[in-house]
Amino acid sequence: MRYDIIIIGAGPAGLSAAIYSARGGLKTAVFEKAFVGGQITVTDEVENYPGFEEPLSGFDLTDKMRKQAERFGTVFHDEEITAIGLEGLCKIIQTKENTYRAKSVIICTGAHPRRLNVPGEEPLTGRGVSYCATCDGALYRDKVVAVVGGGDSAIEEGLFLTRFAKKVYVIHRRDSLRAQKIIQERALKNPKMEFIWDTVVQEIVGDTRVKELEIFNRKTKQITHLPVDGIFIYVGILPNNELLESRIELDSAGFVLTDETMHTNVPGIYAAGDIRHTVLRQVVTATSDGAVAAWSAEKWIIENYDSLED
Ligand SMILES: Cc1cc2nc3c(=O)[nH]c(=O)nc-3n(C[C@H](O)[C@H](O)[C@H](O)COP(=O)(O)OP(=O)(O)OC[C@H]3O[C@@H](n4cnc5c(N)ncnc54)[C@H](O)[C@@H]3O)c2cc1C
Repeated sequence: MRYDIIIIGAGPAGLSAAIYSARGGLKTAVFEKAFVGGQITVTDEVENYPGFEEPLSGFDLTDKMRKQAERFGTVFHDEEITAIGLEGLCKIIQTKENTYRAKSVIICTGAHPRRLNVPGEEPLTGRGVSYCATCDGALYRDKVVAVVGGGDSAIEEGLFLTRFAKKVYVIHRRDSLRAQKIIQERALKNPKMEFIWDTVVQEIVGDTRVKELEIFNRKTKQITHLPVDGIFIYVGILPNNELLESRIELDSAGFVLTDETMHTNVPGIYAAGDIRHTVLRQVVTATSDGAVAAWSAEKWIIENYDSLED
């Protein structure tokens, strides 16, 4: 089957790209290997996406985007893309069962936070376990939270959390931070922040919500229990880049490098959203990237094909 634009991934970036592409009259398909909506569907309350006075769930928000994309004629396929090939200008898209062709491809495969992989983490995700203070911080007004990690994101997000929480523990496996000096200084001076050094989280304890953390001091070998209302984990974010061949240029962390039009180094292949090398990974930035990528892909098709009928 042939499309003008194939979009890989139905998170906010892919859905926004689909709305722009299909509304522009291009034959558009979105491929999703799991469920439409992407990472944000695990969040009960999205408060920072413009246009909604009241919080709405990630599922409801992306369901609206999906319906909007369908209204303009986007075709959705529940299939995982396993390879992207090239035949001249044409892109050959492989799934387990089928082969599709497209003039242009937009990679919107997203990312996922690196997990601690400790007991309690998975069942309590969205119930006190979070990977995004920018997203969930405001839900912890006057509560006690812990941040795990010692890099820029952990410390910046920890500082952000002090706007809401009454206490922010920073649990770090080493005795010094990796974060930039200026951020470290700000954090070390902040009266709401308390640092727990040389320590790892062994278990996140709670039934319906997080209640406490079992922590282990690597130097003293002591195990203690720390009561908290929430835990924010910043031990890295991993790109969903398994599919991308060596020909697509990535940064050292594996995120796709693009120019400002979202173009990758391969002609006619674009990338948008969390998979991209970028400074902020949010729904609003993903949808913005998706719009730019679709607009740019359409322009590229017009410039490189004699007509949309080719
Ligand atoms: C717990 C949590 C809470 C958050 N809360 C907020 C918030 O309140 N506000 C906010 O703005 N942001 C929030 N974020 C961030 C936000 O979810 C992301 O920035 C956003 O989802 C990125 O969208 P995306 O489309 O780039 O990627 P994703 O949402 O990651 O979507 C990528 C999609 O691609 C699919 N896919 C991957 N590989 C393939 C393949 N080979 N074939 C087919 N499909 C594939 C995946 O299954 C997935 O559905 C939160 C994130 C998390 C983890």
